[in-house]
Amino acid sequence: MTAVTQSFDALILGGGAAGLMCAMEAGKRGRRVAVLERADRLGKKILISGGGRGNFTNIHCRPENFLSSNPHFAKSALARYTPADFIALVEKHHIPYHEKTLGQLFCDRSARDILGMIESECREAGVSIFLNSKIQDVSRNTEFVVHASNGEFQAAALVVATGGLSIPKIGATSLGYDLARQFGLKIRDPWPGLVPLVLHEDDRALYCDLTGVSAEVIASCDGQQFREKMLITHRGLSGPAVLQISSYWKKSQQVVIDLAPGLEVTEVFRDPRTPRNSGTLRSELRKFLPNRLADRWLETHESASLTNKALQEFELQTHTWTVTPTGTEGYEKAEVTAGGVDTDELSAKTMESRKVPGLFFIGEVVDVTGHLGGFNFQWAWASGAAAGRALS
Ligand SMILES: Cc1cc2nc3c(=O)[nH]c(=O)nc-3n(C[C@H](O)[C@H](O)[C@H](O)COP(=O)(O)OP(=O)(O)OC[C@H]3O[C@@H](n4cnc5c(N)ncnc54)[C@H](O)[C@@H]3O)c2cc1C
Repeated sequence: MTAVTQSFDALILGGGAAGLMCAMEAGKRGRRVAVLERADRLGKKILISGGGRGNFTNIHCRPENFLSSNPHFAKSALARYTPADFIALVEKHHIPYHEKTLGQLFCDRSARDILGMIESECREAGVSIFLNSKIQDVSRNTEFVVHASNGEFQAAALVVATGGLSIPKIGATSLGYDLARQFGLKIRDPWPGLVPLVLHEDDRALYCDLTGVSAEVIASCDGQQFREKMLITHRGLSGPAVLQISSYWKKSQQVVIDLAPGLEVTEVFRDPRTPRNSGTLRSELRKFLPNRLADRWLETHESASLTNKALQEFELQTHTWTVTPTGTEGYEKAEVTAGGVDTDELSAKTMESRKVPGLFFIGEVVDVTGHLGGFNFQWAWASGAAAGRALS
C-alpha cells in the first residue's frame, strides 16, 4: 500500500522555540502548517532552560549581544520582533515573571508556562503537530517532500528549525547542517558555546579541589570581556563570566581573569604604618575573594618578602590570572552551538535561502549565537517570527 502524502503550505522541521514561533505566526496568517518533531514532545529545551525557570528574553537585547560572522545579519529580525513583543504575549497569557539580573526575564513558576503558552497559540492557529517524526529523507521537485517514520509530507515551503548540536542526550541532531549541505548552502563550522572550560592539569592540581567556590571576575579573551561570576568546577572553570567568554575562545588561546575587578588589592600597604606581612595581605584578599580561594591564591602567588616590587607584581598577577584551557566540556554541556548556516546564504528579513526559494533556516542552526541571559531565545523568537510572517 502506498503511503498517502499529506500536503501543507509549509513544513517546519523541529518543534523547539524557533519552529513553534514560526508555526504560530504562519498559522495565525491562515497558512496550513505542519511541525515535524523527532522527540515525543515539543520544546524540551524550553523546559530545561534557565534551570527550569526559562530565561525567555532579555530587555536589553541589542545586536552586540550576538556572535556571527556577519554582525549585522540579526539586526533586521531582532528589530521586527522585540523583547517587548514577546513580553506582550507572556502578559496576554497572565504568566507571572520577574527580572533577575542584567535585564534577564524569568518565569516566576516554571518554563512550562512558556511552552504551554506557545502550544496553546499554535493550537489556536490550527498548526498540525507530528511528534516522533524521524526524518528519513528530504527532496525537492516542484515542492519539498519529506519522508518521515510517521508519514510522507509535502509543501511549497520547508523551514529548518532543528537547532544545534548541544545536548545530544535530549535529542540534538545534525539534521539542519546536513540539509544545508544537501541544498548547497555554506556552513560556518559549529563549535560549543556557553560551555565550561577545562583547565590544564597543572592548574587543575592547584585549584580544582576548590570546586563550588565562586567569585566576581572579569574574564577576557579575543578582545571580549565579561564581568560576572566565575565558578571553579572539578575540571576547570564555569559560571556566567566563563560561559560567556567560552563562546569566543578558540583552542590554544589564553583566557585572562581579573580576580579583583576595579580594586587595588595592595592599596593598604601605601600607608607606611601598615604591617607588611601575609596576615594583612590575606585579610585584604578575603575582602573580595571567598576565603578558600584567597588563601590558595596567596599560597601560590605570595613572594617571600613584601617589597614594593613584590607587591606590584602580586597586584598585577591578581588582575591577570592567565590560563590556557585544554578544551571545553563539549556539546554534552554546551548551552548553545555557535557557527552554523552561513548568514550570507539567507535573507536577513525572511531567513529564506537566496539559492533555494522556499527553504528557510531559523534559530540556533543559523550562524547567530546569543550571549548568556535570554538572548538565544530572543533570536529563536525573532528569526521564527521573521520566517513565519514571510511564508505565503
Ligand atoms: C540547558 C540549557 C539551558 C538553556 N537556557 C536558556 C535560557 O534560559 N535562555 C535562553 O535564551 N536560551 C537558553 N538556552 C538556549 C536555547 O534553549 C536555544 O538557543 C533555543 O532553544 C534554540 O531554539 P531552536 O528552536 O533553534 O532549537 P531547539 O529549541 O533546540 O529546537 C530544535 C528542535 O528540533 C528537534 N529536532 C532535532 N533534530 C531533529 C530531527 N532530526 N528531526 C526532527 N526534529 C528534530 C529537537 O528535538 C528540538 O525540539 C539553553 C540551552 C540549554 C541546553
